Order: sequence, then C-alpha cells, then structure tokens
Amino acid sequence: MESIHTYNLSGSIVEDENGALKYPLPEVNEIEINLSQLKRNYETIKRLLQPKTKFMAILKGNAYGHGMLPISKELELWGCDALGVVRLNEAFALREAGIKIPVYQLAPIRPEQAPGIVQNQITAMADNAELLDALEKSCEEQNTVMNVHIKINTGLNRFGVDPENAVDFINRVHKNYTKVKVEGVYTHFQNPDYNPEFTREQIRRFQIVLNELEKENLRPPIVHAGGSAAILKYPEAHYDMVRCGVLLFGLEHTLGEKNFPEGIASAMTIKGRILKIRELHAGEFGGYGTAFIPDKNTTVAIIGLGYGDGISRGWKEALVGGKLVPIVSFFMDAIMVDITDVKNSVKTFDEAILIGNQGDSHISWGDACKALGTYEDEQVQYITGRVPKHYRYID
Ligand SMILES: *Cc1c(COP(=O)(O)O)cnc(C)c1O
Repeated sequence: MESIHTYNLSGSIVEDENGALKYPLPEVNEIEINLSQLKRNYETIKRLLQPKTKFMAILKGNAYGHGMLPISKELELWGCDALGVVRLNEAFALREAGIKIPVYQLAPIRPEQAPGIVQNQITAMADNAELLDALEKSCEEQNTVMNVHIKINTGLNRFGVDPENAVDFINRVHKNYTKVKVEGVYTHFQNPDYNPEFTREQIRRFQIVLNELEKENLRPPIVHAGGSAAILKYPEAHYDMVRCGVLLFGLEHTLGEKNFPEGIASAMTIKGRILKIRELHAGEFGGYGTAFIPDKNTTVAIIGLGYGDGISRGWKEALVGGKLVPIVSFFMDAIMVDITDVKNSVKTFDEAILIGNQGDSHISWGDACKALGTYEDEQVQYITGRVPKHYRYID
C-alpha cells in the first residue's frame, strides 16, 4: 500500500526532504483516492477502444475533484497518451510538475498567452487566426514549432469553426504558417447521453469535413470527438483518440443511468472522524437555531466535516458503525448525526463515511446527489481544498 500525502493548505506542508511527515497531523477528515480502482477504470475503458485509439484523460476541475497533479503522474506511469485541461494554469502546472506526455488546452486562450503555450509545448485548441498568428510569432521567437488542434463546431455552439468554413480554415493554416502544425481536428457532442439523433447528425457533419480533408490530403493524424458518453455509446466516434473525463473517475453526468461496464466505480472515499458523542434530552437544541430539536432522548455524534469542507446543507446521510444515520445539523467544520440506533458500536474518533463503504453499507455519489438534487460531476467540485487527499493502492 502506497501513500502520497498532499496538503493543499498553505503552511501545512509538513513533509521533510525524504517525504516523511514531520508533524503528522491528527486529521479529522480525509479524502482517500483508491489508485487501484482508478487504474481499473482506466484499463476497463481502454479495453473498449481499438488498440490504436489514443486515450486523453481529461483532468479539468482538479481532475474532477480528485487532485490533478497526483492523478496526472499515475496516468503517465500507466501509459496514458495525453492529458486534457481547459485552463492555462492547469496546463502550466502539469508541465511544472514534470509531466512529459502531450497536454492539450481545450478552451480558448488569449493571443498574449501564446509565449507560455509555446514554451511549455502545450497543444492548443485553435479556431481563429489571431491566436494562430500569435502562436506562429512565438514559435519564431523561441525557434521552435508547435501543434494545434482545430476545433469544429457541429452543434454544441460553444467553441470551434463552423463546418462550412472548416476546410478552408485548415487550408489557410497549412498555407500561412510554417511553425504551427495542424496535428488534429476535433468536435464535441451536445447530448450524447440522451439524443442519439442529434449525436448522429453531429457525427455526419463532422464526417463531411473529414471526407473533404481526406480528399485534399489534409486529414491530420489525430481526429477526435468523443468524451465518456460516446466512449460507451458511439464506437464509430472513437476515431484516433477519445477524451475521457467523468467515466475515468467512475462518475456519471446524469443521475440514475448506471450503464457502466463491469469494473468501473468511483475511486473516492470521504471520511470524517467522530469528534464528540453526546446525549440530548427531548426538546434540547442540536446545534444552531432550530435545525434539530429531538422529541425524544437522542444520541448524537459530531463529525469533523462541515460545509467548509464541502458538506453543505442538503447532505442527508453518513455511515457510522456500518449503518446509515441521518445528518441533523450543519456547521462550517462539522456535522451532527443522530447515532441513537448504533451508539453501542461506536466511540469517539471512529471513522464516519460520507462517500464510500463501511461494513455492508455504501453511500455513492449518486445517492448523495439524489438527496442534494445536483449532478455528480458538479458536486465533486464542491469538496474544498482543505480536506487532505491521500492516494493509496488498495486492492
Ligand atoms: C469535459 C470535456 C471532455 C470530457 O467529458 P466527459 O464527459 O467528462 O468524459 C471532453 N472534451 C471536452 C472538450 C471537454 O470539455
């Protein structure tokens, strides 16, 4: 079992030069990322692809809340072909951390950011001449070349060149620039989970552009389109590379449609310790205001995870003593749970689980999000940086 400690709070880095913890923190909560599960997800998804199809792991949003840098290093070790992000600070952080595999910047950048992109050899998304001019100029100044991928808008209407202008645009890139190389073209689906007709229409629009590029001998080496939903549902849209985000982390975009292949599951457990156990008499206050006033004698436990950690009002249940117990009160740094039914099997500093397994019971992201009325890939973003993340291979 391997453990990588990362403390995100400034001033709380407590590793000595050998990486050992100088002042082991008595942590009251943690996120545990099971790297064995994450690797199983990666390998399971890889088996759905043709052997020649490349795998770009999307690590935006701090790797869907799992911690971008530690995850990126594991992915590189596992042979992942590329990483994709949407903010330049994410892209630069990956390079600063020593990541050598291709890093794709998938969202627009301002032309004045070109020097950093070139210097860090980030593969940029391009859909306009201003950026390409700036990238070419930076390449000349730095005496180097770089790759861009041209994005084609087939119906999401977010970024990209419209299909009717795409071939002409790519033609001009080839003609006008010598340092900037078109390594790829790509598109992004609008609703691959639920709208097969429109997804097929997007594939058709994309394919028309690809056919024309082929005719003119301009088809770049890496064509890509699909994210997680298309990986599962549209093998014809895998092309030369897939861009996999949410599925790699065992999460889903839309609730209740668990159509994951066997082997894919969430790799994240959220744990907090019981800091205090207390008896409340009927009619006493449990926390601030009138949030909880039990009508019978009740045993409560205070758990060291609060909305300052991302456990906001609306979370319903925790696992304590191997059983589901209701959350009855919220604080910035703690929650109160009613443990009357399990009080004989728990003691102070035992672990409580907000996401994950305990005993025979389980709380999934799906369960939590159903109670909260949110989405998994959104909710995972709300866990805050002060919760320490521990990365372990647990089989
Ligand atoms: C977020 C994103 C992805 C990954 O999507 P998932 O559905 O999470 O796999 C792929 N491509 C682009 C352009 C994205 O923004």
